[in-house]
Amino acid sequence: MPLLVMKFGGTSVADLDRIANAAAKVKREVERGYDVIVIVSAMSGKTNELVGWVEGTSPLYDAREYDAVVASGENVTAGLMALRLQEMGISARSWQGWQVPINTTSAHGSARFVSIPRANIDAKFAEGFKVAVVAGFQGISVEGRITTLGRGGSDTTAVAFAAAFGAERCDIYTDVDGVYTTDPRISSKARKLDKIAFEEMLELASLGAKVLQTRSVELAMRYNVRLRVLSSFEDTDENSGTLVCGEDEIMESKVVSGVAYSRDEAKITLFTIEDRPGVAQAIFGPLSEAGVNVDMIVQNISEKDYDEAHPGAVTDMTFSCPINQVARAQKALEDAVAAGKIKYDELIIDTEVAKVSVVGIGMRSQVGVAARSFAALAAEGINIKVISTSEIKISVLIDRKYMELAVQALHDAFELEKTA
Ligand code: ADP
Ligand code: ASP
Ligand code: MG
Repeated sequence: MPLLVMKFGGTSVADLDRIANAAAKVKREVERGYDVIVIVSAMSGKTNELVGWVEGTSPLYDAREYDAVVASGENVTAGLMALRLQEMGISARSWQGWQVPINTTSAHGSARFVSIPRANIDAKFAEGFKVAVVAGFQGISVEGRITTLGRGGSDTTAVAFAAAFGAERCDIYTDVDGVYTTDPRISSKARKLDKIAFEEMLELASLGAKVLQTRSVELAMRYNVRLRVLSSFEDTDENSGTLVCGEDEIMESKVVSGVAYSRDEAKITLFTIEDRPGVAQAIFGPLSEAGVNVDMIVQNISEKDYDEAHPGAVTDMTFSCPINQVARAQKALEDAVAAGKIKYDELIIDTEVAKVSVVGIGMRSQVGVAARSFAALAAEGINIKVISTSEIKISVLIDRKYMELAVQALHDAFELEKTA
């Protein structure tokens, strides 16, 4: 029997009516002859509420208990979806992660898949069940504890199931009708793409375009899963939405294909540190052990290159990390100071920054993208605080209050509203 994976995100299962709407889409595919694995998110807002409860109880919480709490949102939707399908006459059964079992690493809060044995679900299909509804975002560790995959993780569950079960396609149903040149909620000029290359989607996702979780794109690329993003609120067919696929399938070739942003960034500067071998390790080692995801890093020549209080060369180190990791980062650095591993004159924390990035595989062969980006930002009077580049992206850290303006300015500068 051909098999499809259909994933419904939070807004697509936000209430009983929307669950019914999603179930009707599943029913249609069953009637077309497919067995279906449905992956569901928690109802919209639920995971945020659960995270809030955890943080309200224990600010530097035990990650095992965080997972025990936040994984529960998906369990509710999985059961409700199975019930709704049964009401529609479709034989469906729900599965929590541990029941499959979805085996993951023990990295609570950002676990990775180890294996997804097919036997239990295959046995149910063999019994005549047409739909397996699986709770997204969760799994079970070797210690037998519930794990979660990181925010947005149900996308990754969907792709992993598509790979494990050899699905014909992995359809990600969401509240927009595809992947756009930038977030359509920020720019009315955003244009829907029919196709986007894995590499570009990977870069856009990792730079903040939350329409797909980064790891879902990584997995799709590795296992060559046909991955599609489409609307759960519109009538859809085989040609709807955006296909994420190999570069060779893409006709359009623009230098820049999209603009991404990440709102909740923080910038931390260690002012006046020693400039000696090993100092970067002494700073970033403890940050990594504390689970801080350091992103951009800049080391520059200090104004205080030499003075009597600081014999020897000194410098400053600046890095960015997600805003909700600032407390952890600060504690790790202060502990490293107390242990005599590092010293600095001052720790400057700026929590009012955002990151904006332009992405495109065309940048590999085209120069001038950085200059054009910086000119567009300068024309709007936007100051750049940190820059980082790779082969196919340019990112800048700017004041958060200019984030929307920067996205629009860059979108205009590369004429992304027009097709190539
Ligand atoms: P779901 O709950 O279905 O997983 P998400 O909220 O995680 O949905 O992702 C969908 C959202 O991603 C859209 O509502 C949109 O605001 C946002 N988004 C950001 N960048 C893009 C983009 N380039 N194209 C489409 N949507 C984007
Ligand atoms: N419910 C989880 C979250 O909000 C996972 C997901 O929706 O993909 O992050
Ligand atoms: Mg999502």
